Amino acid sequence: MTMKDIFEFADEIGPAKIVHISEPAVGLKAIVVIDNVATGPAIGGTRMAPDVSVEECVGLARAMTFKNAAASLPHGGAKSVILGNPAMPRSDKEVLIRAFACAIRDLTEYIPGPDMGTNETAMAWIRDEIGRAVGLPRELGGIPLDEIGATGFGLAIAAEVAEEFSGVKLRGATLAVQGFGAVGRHAAHYLAKKGTKLIAASDTKGAVFDANGLDIDELVKLKAEGKSVRELKGAKAIDADDLIGVECDIWLPAARPDVLREDNVDRLKARLVLQGANIPATAEAEKRMHARGILSVPDFIANAGGVITAAVEYHGGTERAAFDAIAEKIAANTRAVLEMAKTKHALPRDAAVELASSRVRRAMQLRRWHRA
Ligand code: NAD
Repeated sequence: MTMKDIFEFADEIGPAKIVHISEPAVGLKAIVVIDNVATGPAIGGTRMAPDVSVEECVGLARAMTFKNAAASLPHGGAKSVILGNPAMPRSDKEVLIRAFACAIRDLTEYIPGPDMGTNETAMAWIRDEIGRAVGLPRELGGIPLDEIGATGFGLAIAAEVAEEFSGVKLRGATLAVQGFGAVGRHAAHYLAKKGTKLIAASDTKGAVFDANGLDIDELVKLKAEGKSVRELKGAKAIDADDLIGVECDIWLPAARPDVLREDNVDRLKARLVLQGANIPATAEAEKRMHARGILSVPDFIANAGGVITAAVEYHGGTERAAFDAIAEKIAANTRAVLEMAKTKHALPRDAAVELASSRVRRAMQLRRWHRA
């Protein structure tokens, strides 16, 4: 790859730095992409995966810039990838992660967080080496976001604001959740507190449906025992693929990217899509939903509860403060995006990108090297 190729990735927002890290003594190969730090030191996950392209890492770092700016956090966006099999023995993983931490010691504008293949223990190792990381264990002042359901809580707040834009009133609304994991189960729980009824849920093994409502606590218990949602007694087992066509008011993807595509999106019967997973819909699917009057609340607006919690943790805040910040920020940002989309007849995603990028640009104007 030439230098010109690397700069092909850059636009007026970033990336500010692409750092290649190699430590042959322990077999460490990693890259860090710091996209933009105009709003403050960048927070972004450290992923461990056998193969991720630089381009992908650049895209993930930009997504963090937008997510953090959209949530009005005093943090820019970044992402890092350590090349390796996340299932390697724990002792090997600790060596790699500690070596990675030492290599980024002087990259002080990057604050790592957990991502695919890393967890709160990995963040504790990094903090132990260099004094900074988010997503820490409770004993180190961490706020365990998957345990408290930070992202699910934020999704329920977004749904509440979306009521007046989508016409879906939460009290009595029916809900289908794709991916009954950390995000999906907490979203179902917090939405149920606002009066919605979970009628369908899926995981990798299949899906269940009951028009009278599924027992959320029973589903959580099954998942905790390592079983599939399909084993829920008294509910009808359906194909995971058929979840998309379930007659419901709210459809909540909380599993994988690109699950709503041109070839399947027209099967959706819901009026509101709450994007729990990252990039769950392709650009074409977003357009089709918009054309059919289905309101789709974009991922980095609706699922920012996790990163908001990480920022509160970084600044020494409590779990209570994290919930307050999520409620305030997600409500304000969902409203701002949906109002802009309505006024401009724009896709909610385009409105969200405009909101986030204009915040980043305004912050850039306040930096030393800006162009008037
Ligand atoms: P998780 O691993 O706890 O749960 C994912 C669930 O999805 C699992 O139950 C799995 O069985 C299921 N699943 C996977 N593929 C599926 C498929 N094809 N069909 C149906 N179910 C499927 O993960 P999570 O932490 O809940 O994250 C879910 C998504 O949300 C991911 O895309 C993640 O990047 C995104 N996200 C998570 C957070 C967070 O706070 N955890 C924050 C923002 C975004």
